[in-house]
Amino acid sequence: MKNILNVVILGSGCAGNTAAIYTARANLQPLVLEGHEPGGQLSITTEVENFPGFPDGIQGPELIQHMKKQAERFGAVYRHARVVHADLSKRPFHLELDHGEPLQTRTLIIASGASARWLGLPNEHKLIGHGVSSCATCDGFFFRGKKIMVIGGGDSAMEEANFLSRFGSEVTLVHRRETFRASKIMLDRARANSKIQFLTDTVVEDIYDAAKGHVTGVKLRNLKTNEVFDREVDGFFVAIGHIPNTKPFASQLDLDPDGYILSHGGARTNIAGVFHAGDVQDRIYRQAITAAGAGCMAAIEAERFLESEGH
Ligand code: NAP
Repeated sequence: MKNILNVVILGSGCAGNTAAIYTARANLQPLVLEGHEPGGQLSITTEVENFPGFPDGIQGPELIQHMKKQAERFGAVYRHARVVHADLSKRPFHLELDHGEPLQTRTLIIASGASARWLGLPNEHKLIGHGVSSCATCDGFFFRGKKIMVIGGGDSAMEEANFLSRFGSEVTLVHRRETFRASKIMLDRARANSKIQFLTDTVVEDIYDAAKGHVTGVKLRNLKTNEVFDREVDGFFVAIGHIPNTKPFASQLDLDPDGYILSHGGARTNIAGVFHAGDVQDRIYRQAITAAGAGCMAAIEAERFLESEGH
């Protein structure tokens, strides 16, 4: 049969790029569909200081470019496209791209990530990497001795607030309700932390960047009293959840109630020949290095699967 690809990789973050390096080196000529956020979450990060091998740190977009170049060197092909429809009921799998083009592939590695949920404030997007962040582990270090604000009332917000209290001079946790979605243990831990103050029934209405391009403060509103007030802030961490990018597979793959792919062991999904890698399955670690490791696992599984099928 002609025009059937061996491997299609969805997503071009750390997971997708690593899967591309491994499958390309295995001579499988992978096609990488870069998705709607090429480079994934690293492409909106500034300095990455915790990826092994870069003692002086590296800019997120640069790290992604290196990975892509490395995969291309072994024959991976990248295309700026995403999948809008997939039929995984039979092999080869049938995919339809956003401009209507059909594709057929023997294996599929889903590394389409999870997008951070944002508040949707006017300045928010342009200040990402300039005081606004969705990842305390990635960016907390840059706010040593500074004023930090965390938004959210779930486990992520508690975890981020606790982590950030190691760096910041103070951490203010802002939540829109009085009660919390976070588990008791995580909430108790944050409450016991003397560096963390809680502002409940409060929403953020604006982020100020008087320092021309860097966060300097926020405008808040207390929903009970309607009082509007300002707070000085240097680091603004949004921890209101993530949205896994699994929409085209919703009715075919086993997903958890929030849409994350459920693993069926290793990098396997419930469908033979379809593998997962990175944040699309991982709601716990969400790190560049764990995503890269997962990309490697998915590539090895895909290679073995193809071999077992005689390709
Ligand atoms: P989550 O549990 O869905 O909580 C999201 C929080 O953000 C909620 O408090 C929600 O407020 C708030 N929120 C959502 N949209 C908002 C908006 N537009 N404006 C203001 N606030 C908004 O998400 P998560 O904390 O990321 O946790 C996701 C899952 O991962 C959970 O199952 C959690 O237990 C798990 N997790 C576990 C750990 C751990 O065990 N170490 C760590 C992190 C995450 P409302 O409550 O008012 O809806």
